[in-house]
Amino acid sequence: MIIDGRAVAARIRAELLSRTARFFENTGRYPTLAVVLIGDDPASGIYVRNKFKACAEAGITCKDVRLPASVSEEETENTVRGLAKDEEVDGILVQLPLPAHLNQERILAEVPTEKDVDGFSAQNIGALALGKQGQVACTPLGVMELLKAYHIETRGKRAVVVGRSNIVGKPMALLLLNADATVTVCHSRTQNLKEECLKADILVAATGRANLITADMVKEGATVIDVGINRVDGKLCGDVDFENVQKKAAYITPVPGGVGPMTVAMLLVNVCNAAEMRHK
Ligand code: NAD
Repeated sequence: MIIDGRAVAARIRAELLSRTARFFENTGRYPTLAVVLIGDDPASGIYVRNKFKACAEAGITCKDVRLPASVSEEETENTVRGLAKDEEVDGILVQLPLPAHLNQERILAEVPTEKDVDGFSAQNIGALALGKQGQVACTPLGVMELLKAYHIETRGKRAVVVGRSNIVGKPMALLLLNADATVTVCHSRTQNLKEECLKADILVAATGRANLITADMVKEGATVIDVGINRVDGKLCGDVDFENVQKKAAYITPVPGGVGPMTVAMLLVNVCNAAEMRHK
């Protein structure tokens, strides 16, 4: 079965409308996301535009904060600090990547934990590792929602996550672990990747390597989640050889239309959660 990320994301986004309306009734304003975009990277510009559109449709107000590529570190930190203090801002998203001269770690450290809707802060990652409530990175959170939507059991299942980045692989592994899966994390130095992948009931690929996961690496009846976004000959594809793997997998996400739409939907959910928590 092909997992329809667009449909699940649309349902989640539609459900948010009543939450944002209730928030407005209680507070006189809508949940608010501030997006800081530095420089004029065209891809980042498109991502931000998509986020604004999705926010507007869900009843979330956006604050569009633009800084020139030449902005200083101090000025950037001051801008984020100002948003941190702004009572009417519930979530802060600093669009990555930053221009090379800026220190990403120092700038992100200015985002307070309760407004960290990307779930990138050390506190939020620590909360996830401890199995406590906090904001969780949108993409892995979206994967968990897809598993839930299709009633795919995680308890006691073998999950293999290929990729160990701080924004996808690691939080993905922690979420699956918290959901009682037996988790293996593979990466570029893993020996016998095929052998590890073949054990997976749930296989998550998050590497950015087109066609890394081939049919001979997938167990019959496994669930295959493809987080990768790659462009091959101008065409969008994931990390999984979809055509051949779909013949073996019980469930599989396509690219596009799988995990991607969930990332934006979960950002909106995180903004609503942050707004409601702050209001409480
Ligand atoms: P990253 O480059 O930070 O990390 C890639 C990981 O893959 C690393 O941990 C590396 O060890 C591992 N890896 C690389 N080559 C490998 C190999 N041959 N065998 C095994 N492991 C290997 O990337 P990221 O930020 O984690 O993103 C991963 C992919 O997911 C990218 O394609 C990115 O565009 C995509 N992505 C998609 C969404 C979405 O919304 N769908 C969101 C974030 C990232």
